Amino acid sequence: MENGCSQGYSSKKTVPEIFGSQVFNDDVMREKLPKDVYKSLRKTLDQGKDLDLNVANAVANAMKDWAVEKGATHYTHWFQPMTDFTAEKHDSFISPTTDGRVIMDFSGKELIKGEPDASSFPSGGLRATFEARGYTAWDPTSYAFIKDGSLYIPSIFCSYGGEVLDKKTPLLRSAEALNLQALRILRLFGDTSTTRVTPTVGAEQEYFLIDRKLYEKRKDLRFCGRTLFGAMPPKGQEMDDHYFGSIKPRVAAFMHDLDTELWKLGILSKTKHNEVAPAQHELAPIFASVNTATDHNQLTMEIMKNVAARHGLVCLLHEKPFEGVNGSGKHNNWSLTTDSGKNLLSPGKLPHENAQFLLFLAAVIKGVDEYPELLRASVASAGNDHRLGGNEAPPATISIFLGDELTGILDALETDTGYDSKDQSMMEIGVHVLPTFPKDTTDRNRTSPFAFTGNKFEFRMLGSQLSIACSNIMINTFIADELRQFADELEKADDFKKALNHLIKRTIKNHKRIIFNGDGYSQQWRDEATRRGLLSLSTTVDVMPLYIQQKNLDLFAKHHVYTNTEMLSRYEVILETYCKTLHIEAQTMIDMVQKEILPAVSSFTKTLADTILAKQSVGLSLACTAEHDILSSISAKLDESYQHLKKLEAILGDCKTPNEPILAEAEYYRSSVIPAMNTLRASVDTLETLIAKSSWPMPTYSELLFEI
Ligand code: ADP
Ligand code: MG
Repeated sequence: MENGCSQGYSSKKTVPEIFGSQVFNDDVMREKLPKDVYKSLRKTLDQGKDLDLNVANAVANAMKDWAVEKGATHYTHWFQPMTDFTAEKHDSFISPTTDGRVIMDFSGKELIKGEPDASSFPSGGLRATFEARGYTAWDPTSYAFIKDGSLYIPSIFCSYGGEVLDKKTPLLRSAEALNLQALRILRLFGDTSTTRVTPTVGAEQEYFLIDRKLYEKRKDLRFCGRTLFGAMPPKGQEMDDHYFGSIKPRVAAFMHDLDTELWKLGILSKTKHNEVAPAQHELAPIFASVNTATDHNQLTMEIMKNVAARHGLVCLLHEKPFEGVNGSGKHNNWSLTTDSGKNLLSPGKLPHENAQFLLFLAAVIKGVDEYPELLRASVASAGNDHRLGGNEAPPATISIFLGDELTGILDALETDTGYDSKDQSMMEIGVHVLPTFPKDTTDRNRTSPFAFTGNKFEFRMLGSQLSIACSNIMINTFIADELRQFADELEKADDFKKALNHLIKRTIKNHKRIIFNGDGYSQQWRDEATRRGLLSLSTTVDVMPLYIQQKNLDLFAKHHVYTNTEMLSRYEVILETYCKTLHIEAQTMIDMVQKEILPAVSSFTKTLADTILAKQSVGLSLACTAEHDILSSISAKLDESYQHLKKLEAILGDCKTPNEPILAEAEYYRSSVIPAMNTLRASVDTLETLIAKSSWPMPTYSELLFEI
């Protein structure tokens, strides 16, 4: 720490100097590449043209020189397999010369294509059908960057048979599908200049920070990323004193370092604050194109963990690290922007802009109403199931929040009535000027899973450790299809304005059941949602069969995002991961109870029994009421815990039946393993409250949540 500054500000560089300093971005490319090469590369980036090998060679060479100058020795194709993590394999730039020395070398071929031994990544059966190995290919639309001495090359990941094995390829395809259909709509409104429509995303990231020494002492945190036991401390989050509270110095120092690291990589880290639960925080970046936002969110999560380690902390990204306080999620803010920077979900000032806005809005309303299971499937995991349906995250029923004002306008349009007291003339699309919609204050309770917030939609169901790719693949694809249907209908119309009016009104009428502006946790809403026929999908096991319904297979095939086989492989991977996660959690519980908790409790009962005997030996038998009572309560709970342990072991032993469909296995985990885990936990948590703190074999919730 320099100059006694308590926050660890040591860099003399300004933020604009630091920002993007490790990124091979447009400025660097323009500076380092020959003019014609730069031009050719830009064509590839802007128009999706194929990359010439000569250009690739020149780019590779410039990238290598730039990276080596900055101290890099290796390069890696960095990709996103069907897990929520990224993958990398590093090769050095060294190449031997005939005289026994080495030079630093990097060819266009090496830049374009990498070949990791990929046979151990989940493929959901694709490997059995096709070739085992996969290859990675450079995604030039996301900038390369330097991290930890390596040049990182953002890449897609496919099998040699052409099957997609990653999350980036379908994301890029879905953005392309949406671009095609959105352009058709813009042309209908007379826009001939826009050449590209890009989904933009801002992902707000929640996380917990705890002390590393305490973390090391808990197997559940180390193996599962969440606590599997833990009695509630006397104080939780009920005082609401953490949310937006002042940031403690140790956390502030972490956040400062984190921002610096993110800025170096060109990540637009903007907002930081304490969250609702003790030890919980949030980081929000400024939005970017969906491809960049996804890469950046993956990097942000990884860097959070690395920077935490430097501060003697651990960053927990699990959706539910602690029972009884809020878990962590991620808000996916989504909109559509043209190449000239116009936000298509921003209500305009001119009547024709409003009509266009209403049409895009109608596409979102119809899409969410027709494909709620895709949204729910995109956030399905064992970890996130703890939040959704619990009383903290959005409820498991999908609905859209529009706010009273916008809902009022849609009502007026649908019923041909005036919508406000000042202006009683009829609302008519393409004639009236819409008011601007500030963020609607009725959204204060934040219970809506899918909320319109003035000029974007905020999807709030994502779990904190999930990749945002899946949710955006779903949203992009179903909105692309709604726009396709709209464009098909409107392109055929003789009278565009009339057809547009009709289409918007019809869409509102048929799909307004998905709009709900009230409290999503209330019992009234649960009843009302059932009456409206909306889906409530509490667990991963409920939603996955709906994911592979024919209509969804058709949707993704039609827009060339996934083949049917690729969809089925993703279904397998998600359910397999669900089962494996629960299996590891159950095993960890068994291990902790057997090796740590039962022995510790048993020793404690011996201490009590010895005390009773000692007191009795000096004639104090009447004064042992406390010890007797405590000893008998603990002994009873100890036996009970032991019974629950044996039961969980037996249930877990029965899990695997050969050739059983993965859905049946997942169903077994949900309906047998999870309840047995919950029962065991309940008895162990009671034991924790009964025995001396000094005898409990691991750090408690009070220590984990309040000692930073
Ligand atoms: P909250 O009130 O939920 O914290 P904010 O209004 O602060 O939300 O913004 C949340 C996120 O939305 C930020 O990451 C911001 O960059 C992003 N955002 C703003 N405009 C857009 C847009 N047009 N497209 C996508 N994301 C956007
Ligand atoms: Mg938000």
